[in-house]
Amino acid sequence: MSDKPEKLITDDGLRLDGRHADEIRPMKIEIGVLSRADGSCYLEWGRNKVLVGVFGPREAHPRRSQRADTAVIRYKYNMASFSVEDRARPGPSRRSIEISKVSREAFEPVIMAELFPKTAIDIFVEVLQADAGTRTAAINASSIALADAGIPMKGLVTSCAFGKVDGQIVLDLNKEEDNHGEADFPVAMTQDGEITLLQMDGNLTPDEIRKGFELVKKGCKEILEIQQAVLRKKFETPVEEPEAEV
Ligand code: UDP
Repeated sequence: MSDKPEKLITDDGLRLDGRHADEIRPMKIEIGVLSRADGSCYLEWGRNKVLVGVFGPREAHPRRSQRADTAVIRYKYNMASFSVEDRARPGPSRRSIEISKVSREAFEPVIMAELFPKTAIDIFVEVLQADAGTRTAAINASSIALADAGIPMKGLVTSCAFGKVDGQIVLDLNKEEDNHGEADFPVAMTQDGEITLLQMDGNLTPDEIRKGFELVKKGCKEILEIQQAVLRKKFETPVEEPEAEV
């Protein structure tokens, strides 16, 4: 017997967690949480919890992995065994290798790696609690951690998924929607709207994809504002108001 709820979207258009179709889950970000990393970020998005540490640019080891003209970017996505309902098997899996690859590629267009030949920039992602959308959560957190590490970038990368649930296109699927929905479509983009990650699980018509992209653009804009606010809070030095003359 399926544990699918009768309806994932109620008659008044609300999702089971109370969101409208175009709403993202609440996001909370902390920056600089790991003292041994060059940059770090802890991010909660709905029930997802991810921790990212960035190290580098530092001399790449083994030496044969070095490139004379650029830094190598390495991205490691890992799920803690306690992060999911059924224990996740420790160590790399096909899924984590795939997520690491596509997430690294999502950053390659923005990181100015050519400034740091022979070095490595390491991005380590630990998923502490998973509730669908961990790859997008990790990309949003990695963007902040890279900025925290002072890695020169052309801009931030922002990520969000859309999907199809009960025949409707909705933004940022939670686990229940991901499990019982018809499609999941994670996207990452630069500040200029260049797409750097695009994946699809399920079936969607061209019209549904167009509609989903409108939602994703809105979601990414909101996330970018959150990311920028967190970075401003940490790095912007308050301008001292000159004392008024009496
Ligand atoms: N999941 C799980 N066990 C696994 C992998 C995934 O329970 O081994 C859950 C987890 O909650 C994850 C969700 O399934 O967030 C969706 O996984 P997917 O592969 O679509 O990646 P994500 O949406 O997290 O980027």
